[in-house]
Amino acid sequence: MTGGCACGRVRFSADVESDEAYLCHCRMCQRATGSLSIAFTEIEDEKVRWLSEPDWYDSSSIARRPFCLACGTSLGFAFKDRSRGRMDLTVASFDDPSRFRPVAHAGAESLHEPWLDTSALPRHPTSAASEAATRRDRGEIVDAG
Ligand SMILES: [Zn+2]
Ligand SMILES: [Zn+2]
Repeated sequence: MTGGCACGRVRFSADVESDEAYLCHCRMCQRATGSLSIAFTEIEDEKVRWLSEPDWYDSSSIARRPFCLACGTSLGFAFKDRSRGRMDLTVASFDDPSRFRPVAHAGAESLHEPWLDTSALPRHPTSAASEAATRRDRGEIVDAG
């Protein structure tokens, strides 16, 4: 499977075997992404190939996160101790995130309950921005969004 950042500068290819993913609600992920939760899938280091290198920043004394310096997309999470041999990629940075399904909540101590089940809320599609994002996913160059 392939994926990358919003502007296309950072791209990756990953040999994904598991469809399992999880939402992390921890404060560090909230700060890193500006979002209340973020979907990750865990994968072996050796199964991730950066086709163009991401930027990295130290998000804590024990972890660092790949991202794109140009557009700011959060691409994942990795412990500095590489002996684990695994890292996380953000589900939505994949070109087709639809394969993954959530199996757990992490960082449950800072989970915001009212945002958890929003399935009954009114649904409004995005128009122009959504179209631009879809075209970008297909690899077309777009200047909107
Ligand atoms: Zn980018
Ligand atoms: Zn987290």
